[in-house]
Amino acid sequence: MTPRVWAMVTLGALLIALAVVLVLLVPWSRPPAPRADQLAALGDLPAEQVDRARAFRVDMRPTGYGSLLVSLAVALALGLTPLGSKLVTVIGRPFGDSWIAQAVLGGLAVVLLAELVTLPFSAWRHTVLVRYGLSTQGWGGWAVDLLKAYAVTAVIGAVALLGFYAVTRLAPRWWWALGAAGAAALVVLLSFVLPVLIEPVFNKFTPMEPGPLRTELLAMAQRDGVPVRDVLVADASRRTRAVNAYVSGLGPTRRIVVYDTLLREAPDAEVVAVVAHELGHAKDRDVFVGTVVGALGAAAAVVSVYLLGAWSGLLRAAGVSSIAEPRAIALLMAVAVLAGVLSAPAQAFLSRRTEARADAHALALTGDPAAFEAMQRRLAGVNLADPDPNRFEYFYFASHPSTVERMAAARAYARGER
Ligand SMILES: [Zn+2]
Repeated sequence: MTPRVWAMVTLGALLIALAVVLVLLVPWSRPPAPRADQLAALGDLPAEQVDRARAFRVDMRPTGYGSLLVSLAVALALGLTPLGSKLVTVIGRPFGDSWIAQAVLGGLAVVLLAELVTLPFSAWRHTVLVRYGLSTQGWGGWAVDLLKAYAVTAVIGAVALLGFYAVTRLAPRWWWALGAAGAAALVVLLSFVLPVLIEPVFNKFTPMEPGPLRTELLAMAQRDGVPVRDVLVADASRRTRAVNAYVSGLGPTRRIVVYDTLLREAPDAEVVAVVAHELGHAKDRDVFVGTVVGALGAAAAVVSVYLLGAWSGLLRAAGVSSIAEPRAIALLMAVAVLAGVLSAPAQAFLSRRTEARADAHALALTGDPAAFEAMQRRLAGVNLADPDPNRFEYFYFASHPSTVERMAAARAYARGER
């Protein structure tokens, strides 16, 4: 068999594995959240809270769509015309057209350019967040965060670019196999390393102070049978008023992180409800499943890129002779951005189902639907979330069930519907 046939067989095997993981590990059914309860919950929310959230949504909308459209347009313009390959050539020239300069400097230039064109929309978004009192950051803090994010992207990007193009040179016929394994390994590594190395770049984490709340949280985790190393508090208040909590890391790096804003805003019973939701993610190994899905997806993407490389019309449009050369970086980025835009609804759907399961876990673990519902109202109020977003945006972007769905789930739970 030729490498090409092997690649097709491998891609088929990866897609089957992905399908098996998704069928077995994603919660396809969701706990009841009747629409009648949703509408009743919407009616119970203060009208000015709903109006303010909707006004915020309206003001945020152009920044989101603008950024999406411009980044898509620029990625396609660079990748599907010779512009991107010319840019990489020009940047590699002072370095004697070396492949390393083209791969790392040229690659980062393409990525950075794609980021920079969305900068005006990020700044616009920041002004909206400040106007609504959601962001507590000045332009200085905002810029520092932005530079930190660019630095993280540059470091991870440089390693990935160097590794990938080294492999394409070492194994011109089989790079896709090594590249797929490397991409999968990188996803797993980042899942372990990001919480430990990257999160502290943006926030300070301190163990939650000893007291009744911490004791209750740790006791609940023990009752739930979820090994929790620590409950950490993030100093989110230095950039936002939004409240949140999350679980990150795998195995020994797993921890529950609570925003200091949440501790400040919410009574203990609601913090317990939030952490119970996060324990649900840990218990159902959502981070692990996400990592496996991401690793299989990354491997499949590399093999797909190799197979796409046989499409001579595409290579001609991008002004390159092979998809494996550094000058084709912009083409790869265009393919990646397009794949991201097309798969966004599927990713949002999987996320919503997983979140609904964690909500059901929180309700069962705490047995306190009243506190859960109060917590949802508070989250929506402080975070200015549209409690009942329009269908298209919900379908395309929403990573969580809507506020009224989550409130309705608590009401159905209270009636004994499971
Ligand atoms: Zn969650």
